[in-house]
Amino acid sequence: MPELPEVECLTRAVQEVLVGRTITHATFHRKDLRWPIPTQEFTKLLVGSPVLNVRRRSKYMLVETKHGCGIFHLGMTGNILLSPNEESAWKHTHASFRVLDQNQDPLFLHFVDPRRFGSILACTTNELVYHPLLVKLGPEPLEIEDLADHLWERSRGKSVAVKTFLMDAHNVVGVGNIYANESLFRAGVRPTRPASKVKRVEWAKIADQVQSVLKEAIIAGGTSFRDYRHADGGPGYFELSLQVYGRAGEECGQCGSFVKLKKLGGRATYYCPECQI
Ligand SMILES: [Zn+2]
Repeated sequence: MPELPEVECLTRAVQEVLVGRTITHATFHRKDLRWPIPTQEFTKLLVGSPVLNVRRRSKYMLVETKHGCGIFHLGMTGNILLSPNEESAWKHTHASFRVLDQNQDPLFLHFVDPRRFGSILACTTNELVYHPLLVKLGPEPLEIEDLADHLWERSRGKSVAVKTFLMDAHNVVGVGNIYANESLFRAGVRPTRPASKVKRVEWAKIADQVQSVLKEAIIAGGTSFRDYRHADGGPGYFELSLQVYGRAGEECGQCGSFVKLKKLGGRATYYCPECQI
């Protein structure tokens, strides 16, 4: 599933192609993905006006003109691929957007999503602020001024496990399962601890590690993304050296104990019983 780093890298790539250019045509090959695609509204708000900005909020990619905003979500298997051809080379292309490049040659952005859990939505600029998908989201982990303070304050009185707390987008966005597991290992905090029992100094470590892990993944993705024109459909997982995730029963690289696996909030949770207290 594309996580924050993947969406960030895709957003940067799409930004390069779209900002300052105008979508001259949008073609939708089906009426719905996870939700119905508001094709007429999308065309009205996005086609024919220069794109002012492309940015990411949580795992949504927002494409803005002066009239409104296109909201893209990649779901489980979505991707946006660039091609000089109107005819997409990729199966499961559900929408295509035409722009002109610097030589006035057409370029096409193809929205590809084999499993169709992704979405393409649109709203006016005014509606964006109150959009139901966005309004309750917590802060961006790489943009908030003091993530540790925020997490500490927000976790007061919350008995939910610290890992479940971290993965809840109401608290902070973009900390997917892999990133939560790895950050807690690096911070030395046991994922099952009640969030309210995690000390201020431990939140500082967790916040640092969440930010480092996400930045590392974005850097890794940024490198592999240079080749995105030739991508073959689904987005890849970024190469991040994983110290506990997927390593149940293996020796911890720090202490030699065996990495444990437990279900927590329905998600696979890996930790070292020695290093993480
Ligand atoms: Zn260990």
